[in-house]
Amino acid sequence: MKDNRIYPFSAIVGQETMKLALILNAVNPKIGGVLISGEKGTAKSTAVRALAELLPDIEVVAGCRFFCDPTISGKLCPDCHEKLDTEGRLTTSRMKMKVVDLPINATEDRVIGTLDLEHAIKKGEKRFEPGILAEANRGILYVDEVNLLDDHIVDVLLDSAAMGINTVEREGISYTHPAEFILVGTMNPEEGELRPQLLDRFGLCVNITGVSDPAKRVEIVMSRAHFEEDPVGMAKKWKPKDQELAEKIIQAKAILPQVSISKDLLLKIVNISIALDVNGHRSDLIMMKASKTIAGFYGRKEVQAQDINDSLEIALAHRMRRQPFEEMVIDPGRITELVRQKIGD
Ligand SMILES: [Zn+2]
Repeated sequence: MKDNRIYPFSAIVGQETMKLALILNAVNPKIGGVLISGEKGTAKSTAVRALAELLPDIEVVAGCRFFCDPTISGKLCPDCHEKLDTEGRLTTSRMKMKVVDLPINATEDRVIGTLDLEHAIKKGEKRFEPGILAEANRGILYVDEVNLLDDHIVDVLLDSAAMGINTVEREGISYTHPAEFILVGTMNPEEGELRPQLLDRFGLCVNITGVSDPAKRVEIVMSRAHFEEDPVGMAKKWKPKDQELAEKIIQAKAILPQVSISKDLLLKIVNISIALDVNGHRSDLIMMKASKTIAGFYGRKEVQAQDINDSLEIALAHRMRRQPFEEMVIDPGRITELVRQKIGD
């Protein structure tokens, strides 16, 4: 039986960094997803589902297997293109943003979909069976225990997340469809690592731990109990808060294209990467995107130094060069401390 009760996002106690990372991806999917590292039972899955629940419905082409966006003709699937050409218009409908779960044992075919070669050869037309990347288009792709997946599958997911499309090629025949999604991976570092090359390709990373503050834990237990006893009442109680957050996300999305960052602050970003000896240029780019998105979330059109500080942990935790025997994801507090030592505030 499917349980449709969804815990309200605003009712989640603590885990502020995880919530921020998810919100920033909802505002700006170009940030490139988030990897949530931490022990089991830390509300990861709850938070992701709760976020999708509060986000506004999306407009889709009615009946499209890829949930195409009717407002962007450049991002239509081949079916919708054809329909638009022959009928001159597309009928639309609205739907909730989806959270698609990637099964741990998913094969490549199941992920990317399959092309019917026989049909293509016999009839001269392409017949495509959509996979998980199609299902996840314009939604959230939730990959639990991403570190236990085959590296090759993780590669495919990250490629698609970065490009926003999925291309399947077999024997010289290819099929491309839109596959834009927010990639949320989780991992328990005790169960195995993720190669640094893969780690670096997740836009943001959050290291979460269980809540140890007794008062907070009491709050969690009470909130959980309330939810179990009276999910409807719980939803009602938190609806105004959730709605307020949804409004903030919608507004942030709208002003994001106008958010600017000064040369001085860009220099600060670059200096941080250099001082912390972070590999490559991705950290600069992600810190810039994240701080712009944070500014937008607070309704500002200009990045402030504080926005950069707020982006440090989530943008750099998985990109720092590690010492031998050091944790894969660096303790966030250490990053802020290092920056303070080397750069100042
Ligand atoms: Zn379509």
